[in-house]
Amino acid sequence: MAGIIVIEDEQRIRELVVGVLAEAGYEVDAEATALVGLQRIVERRPDLVILDLGLPDLDGAELLKMIRAVTDVPIIVATARSAEREMIAALDAGADDYLVKPFSVEQLVARVRAVLRRVGAGASEGRLVVGGLVVDRAAREATLDGRRLRLSPKEFDLLAYLAERPGEVVTKRQLLAEVWREPYGGSEKTVDVHLSWLRRKLGESAAERRYLQTVFGVGVKLVDPRDR
Ligand code: CA
Repeated sequence: MAGIIVIEDEQRIRELVVGVLAEAGYEVDAEATALVGLQRIVERRPDLVILDLGLPDLDGAELLKMIRAVTDVPIIVATARSAEREMIAALDAGADDYLVKPFSVEQLVARVRAVLRRVGAGASEGRLVVGGLVVDRAAREATLDGRRLRLSPKEFDLLAYLAERPGEVVTKRQLLAEVWREPYGGSEKTVDVHLSWLRRKLGESAAERRYLQTVFGVGVKLVDPRDR
């Protein structure tokens, strides 16, 4: 059973989140202030932290840095839509995912499950295989037909994200949110540019696309060319 610590000062939300997650089968602790929350994280070593960025005693982003200084526990930050900049700063400071208030119960559970799955998958089965392409997330290396690809960190993240979802169309907006951690801002041009670099490193041209396939007007997907 995965352990979760919720740090949220609003009692109503705190109780709701704790109730929902307990019902979903998690072991949940909750704290109302940043400093007690940090102490609890150090003591309990949870599998996941849900952190409200608007806390009374300490700026959420500051707390996030303090947590990151002691542990790499996955963190989901929660904030109001109006506090978008704060959330982006939190993602830059090492948060793994985010929830925008008001969020639904289903959204909360789905995000928690996805983050835990991602972390678990990263630890146990770090290698993703799509046709002749092998992406080793633990070693941060990718090979194509046994040949090592020389990728920038962002290109690697992009490739790994797509390789986690073979055959699934991913939108550029989704890539900006998940790979670039820019859920609202960012330019789709950035994604286009990185996709074209990645395409070139995979030895593909616009005329002859193999692994990376653009779905016009929707996004991009990574496929095993032998499946076509
Ligand atoms: Ca709050």
